Amino acid sequence: MSKLCQGPSCHMYDTQDRKRGPKGNKRNITRTVGQYSYGNNNFCTLTCHNDWAKENMDRAIDYIGRLREPKAMTPENSWQKRENYYTWQRENGEPRYYYRNICTNEQRPLTESQYNDTSYTLNTGE
Ligand SMILES: [Zn+2]
Repeated sequence: MSKLCQGPSCHMYDTQDRKRGPKGNKRNITRTVGQYSYGNNNFCTLTCHNDWAKENMDRAIDYIGRLREPKAMTPENSWQKRENYYTWQRENGEPRYYYRNICTNEQRPLTESQYNDTSYTLNTGE
């Protein structure tokens, strides 16, 4: 089943695809989230996403937990998996898959299975 757009005013935007009912008694209804979805598949348009955010974002963030202190990039939390797309570099011995520490610029080679393993990480910090 298709998900309904969560935009609080989705039904108030006047488009043909929202119209339902018999001639003379048409009314606009909330859209389903279509092929072009926004906000993690919860909204039909960026406008509906923004309408929801304006009404609810502060409460949602407070419910989840508002960030109170700045986060910091450290060497411990800065390993990112990368893939080397340059064939000529790989032919010169550089690895196809590698970790790059975006804080220190250190690089470490990865196997393909390590690269594809979503739980494999060198990150140890927050
Ligand atoms: Zn919508």
